[in-house]
Amino acid sequence: ALDPAVPGSHRVQDRANPVASLEPASALHEFQNEPDTDNSIASNRAWGLRILERSATSTLGSDTIAAARIDDLDTLLTTVGATVHASDTWVALPVETRARILHDAGDVLGAFRGRLIEVMASETGKTIAEGDVEVSEAVDFAHYYASRSLDLSSVAEATFTPSRLIVVTPPWNFPVAIPAGSVLAALASGSAVIIKPAPQARRSAAVMVEALWEAGVPRDVLKLVDIEEGDLGRELVSHPAVDRVILTGGYETAELFRSWRPDLPLLAETSGKNAIIVTPSGDLDLAVADVVKSAFGHAGQKCSAASLVILVGSVAKSERFRRQLVDSVRTLRVGIPQNPLSQMGPIIEPAHGKLLRALTSLEEGQSWLVKPVELSDDSVADGRLWSPGVREGVAPGSEFHRTEYFGPVLGIMTADTLEEAIELQNASAYGLTAGIHSLDPLEVATWLDSVEAGNVYINRGITGAVVQRQPFGGWKRSSVGAGTKAGGPNYLMTLGSWSAVPAEP
Ligand code: GLU
Repeated sequence: ALDPAVPGSHRVQDRANPVASLEPASALHEFQNEPDTDNSIASNRAWGLRILERSATSTLGSDTIAAARIDDLDTLLTTVGATVHASDTWVALPVETRARILHDAGDVLGAFRGRLIEVMASETGKTIAEGDVEVSEAVDFAHYYASRSLDLSSVAEATFTPSRLIVVTPPWNFPVAIPAGSVLAALASGSAVIIKPAPQARRSAAVMVEALWEAGVPRDVLKLVDIEEGDLGRELVSHPAVDRVILTGGYETAELFRSWRPDLPLLAETSGKNAIIVTPSGDLDLAVADVVKSAFGHAGQKCSAASLVILVGSVAKSERFRRQLVDSVRTLRVGIPQNPLSQMGPIIEPAHGKLLRALTSLEEGQSWLVKPVELSDDSVADGRLWSPGVREGVAPGSEFHRTEYFGPVLGIMTADTLEEAIELQNASAYGLTAGIHSLDPLEVATWLDSVEAGNVYINRGITGAVVQRQPFGGWKRSSVGAGTKAGGPNYLMTLGSWSAVPAEP
């Protein structure tokens, strides 16, 4: 565990004793990805079980979110005014001081790991393993953006002026990592922040914000507000003092924000309809495992999830891939997160609309390879717990080919050639993630030349981007705004404005 060549391995890995895990303090300038919990250590497994037990009745974050509730316009406007005002004290701090606070915020988020996993399991149904990687990502965002914030002041030819107020509207599917990433980026760019959590994940956002306050981010510089999404949401987004909005959510929400305020500087990561291609040269065993993980991780509720697998040539014609896929999908253990054996948890709310349709009905020419079944458990609402489904015979241009469902259902398409498969993969309004399983370098090169997606993955799953190593962001309708990637080197630069430094006379 103490091999200095392995990033992060210098950290003490005893989760029950987070203070020890902070030694030695990580350096501000040297970014290293935070390691996930090592479950080969017995005390960590016991720690995890205690978290899951607590999550059944957890109320973490309740007080903070109750205090953040705003029901009338006057209070909202006062809060906006006060936050803009507080931005002056934040921007006046030396850059190094701000960076140190945000770096510390990463360490505190790490120390809050148990609380964050507990609140996510309790509020959104995330399994312990899914919550754990999300906390690591939040820690990474803090450490990474803290170190990148030092770059903003070191560009010789231009001056960066931060925004004064950035509003963050995160989704519920990554209830800690995405709000943390957006808030930390905005703070690192020198702006004050108002965060309005997703209604399904309020308490998770509140506990994340508590960690940042505890690390020394001033409470008036980082404001949590809980408002209804109707009129008050519109007032907030349309307020002229709001310099930018960072949104992660559906494409329709980005359009709605733009309709409220056409000139709104919006940085949005939106929807996806993502596919993995498997060619005859691919390692089929690996492909099956990666498809299953990408399609059914967090019950398919990721913008990055695989919703389609496109089988090429002899893989399409043979039964081998399908048989292995069916076996693998059938053995996934579905259940509540409080059961440590659950590999796939419930969906966020009872299936309805297009997702319910995708789980219960087929289009013409389609058949179920694995039919989704609604399961029941006393502790979750009816309609939330579904076994994963796989449908065969998805036709080009069909509803399933085009629609993002955000749930545990995968479709199989077939193609005679790689070129045809790429066409099917690109035939989407979105372009977030895409994958290929092929061990033929020429095929991979052809694919890379023509694939239309922001994050492309070769011979691996297509979810789980990693800060610095795989910055995350899309093309086409998967991205609205500046188009830079979260967790990458250019993200902070788009959060303020630049002006040229006049040449010396
Ligand atoms: N960053 C996540 C991933 O790479 C996806 C984020 C999202 O679903 O919005 O899997």
